[in-house]
Amino acid sequence: MSIVRSRRALARLTARWKREGEVIGVVPTMGALHAGHLSLVRRAKAQCRRVIVTLFVNPRQFDNAADLAAYPRTERSDWAMLKPLGIDVLYAPPAAEIYPSGHCTTVSVAGFSRDLEGRFRPGHFDGVATVVAKLFLQTGADRAYFGEKDFQQLALVTRMAADLDIPVRVIACPTIREPDGLAMSSRNRRLSPAARDIAPALAANLFEAARRIEAGGSPAACLRQAHRRILAAGFAKVEYVELRSAADLSPLVRVDRPARILAAAWLDGVRLIDNVKVAAR
Ligand code: AMP
Repeated sequence: MSIVRSRRALARLTARWKREGEVIGVVPTMGALHAGHLSLVRRAKAQCRRVIVTLFVNPRQFDNAADLAAYPRTERSDWAMLKPLGIDVLYAPPAAEIYPSGHCTTVSVAGFSRDLEGRFRPGHFDGVATVVAKLFLQTGADRAYFGEKDFQQLALVTRMAADLDIPVRVIACPTIREPDGLAMSSRNRRLSPAARDIAPALAANLFEAARRIEAGGSPAACLRQAHRRILAAGFAKVEYVELRSAADLSPLVRVDRPARILAAAWLDGVRLIDNVKVAAR
C-alpha cells in the first residue's frame, strides 16, 4: 500500500490499471477511520482488483470553522488500520491538489442539497458533491463505496454521478453500529463518557419508531414520540426526525414504498446523525 499525494502520481497508476483492464474501487473518507469505514474497504476489496481509499478532510463541506478545526486528523493510525486490508493506494492529497489556485467550480445537486441536512448545514452538500465528483474523476473509479450511515449523502452522490455521466457505480453499504446501537462515527470520540452513555438513545428511538410505523402506527405520531424521547434521554436539541422515501428522499406521510427515518440531534456539543430503514406495508 502506497501513500499518494499528487493527482499526477495517482493518474499514472490508474492509467496503467485501466490499460490492464483492472476494476478500480474507491472508498472516499475524511480519515479518523473506524470499523464502519473498514467495512466499506472490505467490500471494495472483495469486488475490485484495485482499491483506492481517499483521505481528505474537505474544507468546503464544513459550514462551521470550529467544526473543521475540531475534526480529528489521525493519518498514522488510519494507515495502520488500512495496512492489513491490502488496499493499493491511500490517496491523501493536500488541499491544493483538490482546489488549485483559481478553482471556482461548484457542483450542486438541486433538491438534495438544501433539504434535511442541507437546511441545517448550508453549503455542506455543495462541498460534498464537488469533492466527490473530483475524487471520482481523479481516481477514474469503476465502483465507489458509500455508507448508509450518511443516507442523504449516498442518495446525492448517486444522483450526481448519474447526472454528470460519470461512469462509476455507487454501492451502498450498511451502517455499522457499536454493540449498544450507536452508529459508528468519527464524531463519537468527541463525546464525554456521560454523553456517550446517552448517545445510543438516538438509534434506539429511530428503531422503535420504525417498528411502530411498520406495525401500523401513525408516522406523524411515531416521529413526534421519537423526537420527545430523544430529548428526554438527554440530547440538547433535535434538528429533525423525518420519514422519507428511500429512493429519492421525498417526504412521506404513509409508508407505501421503501422508506427511511432520518434524524439529526445535538448531544454534548456534538451533532449526531442517523437513519433507519422502514419496510413498506
Ligand atoms: P466520513 O469519513 O465520515 O466522511 O465517511 C466516509 C464514508 O464512510 C462515508 O461513505 C460514510 O457514510 C461511511 N461511514 C461512516 N460511518 C459509517 C458507519 N458507521 N457504517 C458504515 N459506513 C460508515
